[in-house]
Amino acid sequence: MYTVAQLIGGVWGAGGEGGELVVHDPADGTPVTRAPVAGVDEVAKAVEAARGAAAEWAATAPAERAAALHRAADAVEAAADELAEATTAEMGKPLDDARGGVAAGVGTLRQYAELAPLRGGRTLHGGHAAVDFMAPEPRGVVAAITPWNDPVAVSCGLLGAALVTGNVVVFKPSERTPGTGWLLARALDSALPAGVLSLLTGGGEVGATLAGQELDVVAHVGSTGTGRAIAAAGARTGAKVLLENGGSDPLLVDADVDPVWAAEQAALGCFANAGQICVAVERVYVHRDVAEEFVDALVARAEALAMGPGRDPETQLGPLVDRRHRDHVHGQVTAAVAQGARIRTGGAAPGGPGAFYPATVVDGCRHEMALVREETFGPVAPVVLVDSFDEGLRCAADSPYGLAATVLTGSMSHAQRAWRELPVGTVKLNAVFGGAPGGAAQPRRGSGQGFGYGPELLDEFSTVKVVHLEAPGGGHW
Ligand code: NAD
Repeated sequence: MYTVAQLIGGVWGAGGEGGELVVHDPADGTPVTRAPVAGVDEVAKAVEAARGAAAEWAATAPAERAAALHRAADAVEAAADELAEATTAEMGKPLDDARGGVAAGVGTLRQYAELAPLRGGRTLHGGHAAVDFMAPEPRGVVAAITPWNDPVAVSCGLLGAALVTGNVVVFKPSERTPGTGWLLARALDSALPAGVLSLLTGGGEVGATLAGQELDVVAHVGSTGTGRAIAAAGARTGAKVLLENGGSDPLLVDADVDPVWAAEQAALGCFANAGQICVAVERVYVHRDVAEEFVDALVARAEALAMGPGRDPETQLGPLVDRRHRDHVHGQVTAAVAQGARIRTGGAAPGGPGAFYPATVVDGCRHEMALVREETFGPVAPVVLVDSFDEGLRCAADSPYGLAATVLTGSMSHAQRAWRELPVGTVKLNAVFGGAPGGAAQPRRGSGQGFGYGPELLDEFSTVKVVHLEAPGGGHW
């Protein structure tokens, strides 16, 4: 059982005026974490204390901050097993995936530690005795409000980039993974001056109270609805708002690809982390010519996945995060069936404990169905038949979201049309996952705003001071 403590003004153990929350293991319902819920006054106090620590941290030399972040990465690495186990116990993903998430987080921290001290600004020469230079500066106090689906990797990105650029951070991890957030904050804090990082725990109401404070940046990774509420709060307070939100990423399967390979790609995109990935494949548009073979192969892949608790080394498909989320996933599947779609495999929650849901393939879907258009965030592959690449591209582009899209095609001209015409932040050609380390992403529409990853995130957490310098009296220095 993890017993979480908050970190406010450099002091561990503070608070809990708002009560307590308990997290249950989604594999068997046993309690795994107790965490305090921050009260309204505690949230205000944490932000005020952070503000008090901001000037000194901002004045620290960039190389010194980078060295601290490297030490923080060492501490996270040393806690890797514990972090991975906590992730699996709290949100259910297979332990190997959880280890991968921690390793990705450590890699990101190190990358930011290397890149941040190299950043500079432009210089301009307005006249012989005049020069302008542009100096990056920290923004001040950052709130980092994060989700549960990949809790270490996502949080390390925001926290690492914000801290190394000289901001102080108030971190509010998801109420579904507060134990993981606490372990991460403990590791990071061990390498930082007291007060530079704070930790508040609790649910959406704590996040909302935090987002309503006088902050300089609110960085949120999570659902679109929450992102919109945070954007509204930012409009009131004047804080910069950085949003990495939900998606309904399409996979487009062209007529000229091997349908069995395409099904492998679809299975990976739809079922990894039980579909609980922001860039999971949420809808599949397959060309009629290859559809039958494709769906048969996808069904075979879905049925071959070993479902079980994430801590079991055999498990390929863990439970969903909780039963409330399972109801949401199943609700979308049953609504699609009521509208004429067919379940080819899965589609029924097993009895017994936990929040398990099988890998599910639904064909005969139509583009208008909620299962296709909305974010499902579960291990479900809704398949829509299309008669042409044009039709598939049109459907893929028609979405309230704009996170990412994958196109499987052997045609260079189709590939080029795809990356030119799809209104999303990332277009992936012939691979559902991957991408070079350090890759950035800028979501569109309901999927958010601003860069949430990559070196560009360092710019998001910085502002630029322009200095115009001239010799006195217009003469020479
Ligand atoms: P969520 O938005 O419900 O919760 C995320 C965080 O926001 C939590 O810490 C939560 O307590 C807090 N929160 C909730 N309501 C709030 C409010 N009104 N004001 C301020 N904070 C509030 O999202 P979730 O269910 O934890 O995560 C799943 C979602 O995250 C999915 O939509 C997924 O696509 C998205 N996601 C996006 C990315 C990305 O990079 N685009 C990455 C991971 C997850």
